[in-house]
Amino acid sequence: MPATPRIFDGHNDCLLRLPEESPAAAFLDGRDGHLDLPRAREGNFGGGMFALFVSPSPDTTPRERRRTETEDGFYLDPPPQLRPSYAQEVTEELLARFETVLDASDGQVRLVESVPEIRECFEEDVIASVLHFEGAEPIEPDLSNLESYYDSGLRSLGLVWSRPNQFASGVPFEFPGSPDTGPGLTDEGRALVRRCNELGIVVDLAHLNEQGFWDVTDCTTQPLVVSHGGVHNICPSTRNLTDEQLDAVADSGGLVGITFAVNAVRPDGKRETETTVETLADHFEYVADRVGVDHVAVGSDFDGAAVPDSIGDVAGLPRLFEELTDRGFDAEDRQKIASENWLRVLDQTWN
Ligand code: ZN
Repeated sequence: MPATPRIFDGHNDCLLRLPEESPAAAFLDGRDGHLDLPRAREGNFGGGMFALFVSPSPDTTPRERRRTETEDGFYLDPPPQLRPSYAQEVTEELLARFETVLDASDGQVRLVESVPEIRECFEEDVIASVLHFEGAEPIEPDLSNLESYYDSGLRSLGLVWSRPNQFASGVPFEFPGSPDTGPGLTDEGRALVRRCNELGIVVDLAHLNEQGFWDVTDCTTQPLVVSHGGVHNICPSTRNLTDEQLDAVADSGGLVGITFAVNAVRPDGKRETETTVETLADHFEYVADRVGVDHVAVGSDFDGAAVPDSIGDVAGLPRLFEELTDRGFDAEDRQKIASENWLRVLDQTWN
C-alpha cells in the first residue's frame, strides 16, 4: 500500500458526539463514533475543521424531523429558525467542551489559526484543529459579537446549516432535488461575508441554497469554499453542487471538500452504509476531471453523518487514497487532495 499523505479534513462533528460528562477521555482514549485520537493517528488524519453546531432545540435532534417518502426519494421538513440567544448559549457549552479536550490532550491536539501552525502540527504528529461554526446562528445580526468569536479562535464560518437564519437560507434535505430552494442572502448576510473577508474567516458555503451561493460569489473577495458536499450530477441531492457551481468554485481558486455522507454520495440518495469506496471516489474524480485536481479535497462529515462501511471511520481514510492511486492520481495529486488544496485556500483567506 502506498504511504497515505497527512490528511486535513474539512468537516467533522466530533465535538457534538463527545459525551458531556467526559469529552476529553472519549476523544483521547477513543473507540466510539468515527473520530478520536487513536484512530486519527491510524488513518493519518492530521487535522481539520472541528464544527460547533446548534441542534434545533435542547431535546430534539435534526433527525427527529418529519420525513416524507416520495416515489423516488424523500424530503425532510425544514427545522425552525433559532434565536441567536439560544444558539449563543449552546455555542458557549460546546466551546467549553472543546477547551476541555484541548487542555486534557497535553499538547496532542492544538487549536490552530494559521497554516504554518498546521504544518508544524503535521510534523510533530499533533492534531491541528480549526474552530468552525456550522451555521451562523450564534452571530448577532449586527455582527457585534463576531470579533469576540474570532478572538476565541473562530476561523471558519458556515453561513447556514439546512435551515433559514438571519443571514441566509440552507437547503432542506431532499432527494432528488435541486439546490435552488429559496431566497438568497439577506443584507445582514452580505455584511457578514464582507466582515469575514476583512477579519480572515473562511466563509463556508456547505448547506447553502443556490441563490445564496451566487450571492456570495458577488460579494466575496476570497476563494469559494464548500467544506463538505458532493457532485449533483452523480447524486442529485439538494446538498450537492451543480456543474455550474463547481466551475465557479474553481474559477475563484477555491475548493470542495467531498463529503462521505452516504445519502449525498450514493446515486440513489439512500442512507445505506453499504456503499463502496469506488462510489465515494467517483465524486473526487468527477471534480478533478471537470475543474482540476486543485479544487477537490476531503470533507468527511465524520460523526455527523452515516459514512460508507468501506471507510468505516477515520482509520479507514487510507482506503480512499488507495482507490485514488488505482485511478491514476499520482503522489502530487494525492498530496493536493489530502491537504495542500485546503492549506492553499486557508493561507489565502486567513492572511
Ligand atoms: Zn453538515
